[in-house]
Amino acid sequence: MSGVVGIKTKTGKTQKLFYSLSSIQHRGQDASGIILSTGSNLRRVRGLGLVNEIFADENLEDSEGEYGLGHVRSAQEGCNQDYNVEPLVSFAKGNEFSLAHDGNLVNYQALKKKEEDAGMAFHTYTDSELILLLITRYFEGDIVKAIRRAMKDLRGAYSCVLCMPDKIVGFRDYNGIRPLMLGFDEETTIIASENCSIEILNIDDYRDIEAGEIVVCDKDGIKSYKDDKKVNCKHCIFEYIYTARPDANIEGTNAYMFRRRSGELLYDQAPVEADLVCPVPDSGTPSAIGYAQRSGIPFAAGLVRNRYMGRTFIKSDQKERELSVRLKLNPQKSVLNGKRIVLVDDSIVRGTTSAKLIQRIRKAGAKEVHIRVTSPPVTNPCFYGVDTPDKSKLIAANLSVAEINKKIGADSLEFLSIDNLMKLTNNPDDYCNACFTGDYPIKREAK
Ligand code: AMP
Repeated sequence: MSGVVGIKTKTGKTQKLFYSLSSIQHRGQDASGIILSTGSNLRRVRGLGLVNEIFADENLEDSEGEYGLGHVRSAQEGCNQDYNVEPLVSFAKGNEFSLAHDGNLVNYQALKKKEEDAGMAFHTYTDSELILLLITRYFEGDIVKAIRRAMKDLRGAYSCVLCMPDKIVGFRDYNGIRPLMLGFDEETTIIASENCSIEILNIDDYRDIEAGEIVVCDKDGIKSYKDDKKVNCKHCIFEYIYTARPDANIEGTNAYMFRRRSGELLYDQAPVEADLVCPVPDSGTPSAIGYAQRSGIPFAAGLVRNRYMGRTFIKSDQKERELSVRLKLNPQKSVLNGKRIVLVDDSIVRGTTSAKLIQRIRKAGAKEVHIRVTSPPVTNPCFYGVDTPDKSKLIAANLSVAEINKKIGADSLEFLSIDNLMKLTNNPDDYCNACFTGDYPIKREAK
């Protein structure tokens, strides 16, 4: 998971880029980087950490040039190294290129092996480097042609922004898996993973960059290049469930409304008698509101979240993962004591969060704890950029719902059905739900 931002603006470029990048911090907290064009060169600041940890005031002084690029990165286990931090930079054929990428290539290993066999040495362990390598290799003065040619070789998910000293270019894979948006007003054009990065600049006009579309923003304005023949939309459904902010409007669907409605549907599907509906904050909150409103059971904040602990899902070992649930969420005894609780969360992956929370909610005096999950069981890993562990660690790939219920120690456990989940989309065929069904739209390629 990552977040990308590219900007073209007449004034305050650096500050705008900083604000926009900060607003998509939820897409990655391990590393942050920006590129600032001086008009003829690219200047880079990057490092391991949050946006406001990396960019001190002296790094944010405004420079000449109208273009900039930003990236926030969520690293997979063991890959949080400074050499992987984006945006990546490349110098080729008298030009400077920089790239920020969200997604995951399924043919990375195969492409990389081919290059290595031909003598190429890589500087990172990221598939983004391959995207940049292919674009620079095919570049003969026309960036659109170079990207289009590289897209022939790339398979998988890529929502990217490329920056050159005199332009930014956004492009999205032919399945449109990860989101990418284009926003503009008279002064500024911005390409970003989510609309919050656009709206924070007071820009109200924005649209999705389409699957397979390339958008160039330079001194001549905004130009769009499409290749409709190859498009087969398979937008990631997990963006609405978990990844995106609730205010994200992706492909015409608002994530908050999606989540709230998922809570309503889950109540219809799996009602339960209880005294309180409590969310696992923050991602479970809109769904818990939906479940509470539909059921008439009061909504209550039974867990208090430490806002300064980031998303804690990817920790190196199980002990640390369990500790991080405790550090992040604390049960409110005054709310929970003596009550029958419906605890609503967006997903169960390894089962760590729910097991730990149930123990502690009981300790706080709850009489019953019923778990309601507003997505189906995650039975398959994602190969397109959502960090899920391999199948052996996915609890639902190895245990039935009844067995999970027993293992996490709930009084009852229900997941939203896949049929109900797909009802939340405007066109079910346009979405990838492989993590729940194993129906992968793009097959993975071996080495
Ligand atoms: P687990 O404890 O492994 O069952 O993970 C489930 C919790 O992690 C839920 O509370 C989700 O909100 C959250 N979650 C689900 N998917 C992800 C992801 N890809 N990255 C980080 N957190 C996630």
